[in-house]
Amino acid sequence: MNRSNQILKDILKSNRLSVTNQRLLIFNILSQNQPLSMNELIKKTNSEIDRVSVYRIIETFISVGIAQKVSLGWKYKIELSDTFQDHHHHLICLACNKTIAIHNQGLESYLNKIANENNFETKNHQIEIQGYCSDCQKS
Ligand SMILES: [Zn+2]
Ligand SMILES: [Zn+2]
Repeated sequence: MNRSNQILKDILKSNRLSVTNQRLLIFNILSQNQPLSMNELIKKTNSEIDRVSVYRIIETFISVGIAQKVSLGWKYKIELSDTFQDHHHHLICLACNKTIAIHNQGLESYLNKIANENNFETKNHQIEIQGYCSDCQKS
């Protein structure tokens, strides 16, 4: 068993949730993919889990900090939380829906600086850049 599966199990247990095959399957799908919309996620379960259960599992994952929403205007995608991957932001293509993760320490320091200057204690922040990827700019 790899390290992130162990962390997953620890989080579930500390929240008195059992480690079910369905939860493991959803976790593994999320860990192997770019952020997914709920429909994309449901498709990838190959009907092994019904729609309602997928929504319920994601709700649970978000409430205990296993997964997080990537806001896309009024829509959103789901990805694993910063517990399982380095903190990052996204470039999101409006045409093909591709998401590109960006890691930029300069950006993070700058955001901290802005918060400090305003005597603001940051709990969380989201920055998603929407536009067109290089493939979609050509067509
Ligand atoms: Zn694109
Ligand atoms: Zn950040």
